[in-house]
Amino acid sequence: MKNKTNPIKEFLAEKGYSPTIKTFKVPSRSEKGKFHTVELLQNGKLICDCLAGSFKHNCYHKNIVLQQLKGMIKIKVKSLWNGKIGIRDKYVRQAQKEYKDLCISFENRQMIIPFGEIDKMVVGKSENPVKDKFNNQLHYLIYFFWKASDKQKTLI
Ligand SMILES: [Zn+2]
Repeated sequence: MKNKTNPIKEFLAEKGYSPTIKTFKVPSRSEKGKFHTVELLQNGKLICDCLAGSFKHNCYHKNIVLQQLKGMIKIKVKSLWNGKIGIRDKYVRQAQKEYKDLCISFENRQMIIPFGEIDKMVVGKSENPVKDKFNNQLHYLIYFFWKASDKQKTLI
């Protein structure tokens, strides 16, 4: 069989959805030795090649992957600067590396930045590194416009 294509993926591509950034193999429960492919798209959606795992439906395999990806990186910020918040570059890098969303709290409100949208939402970076007052390590601040999310977005 040549180039097994995923009809869901084709459909998504036609509609302009984001490309796959990571692929996971999840063992089938019904057939020993068989694996299903779950793909993580840039926009944070998951698609699976099993029968149940259509674009809108959850399946066992997507849930397995979701468990792996679950957990947002939680950050508290104490001040707004021209409507912007600054968070340490290490959190941004971690979010992108581990495919985790950023959950930023400011004055009891929260803003979720899905990992797939971090690049789009960055509005600047501190020109010079800032010194941490506790351990003297240097870090940069990455700025985002503050906009509290009233509803929490989930990966699916
Ligand atoms: Zn599936």
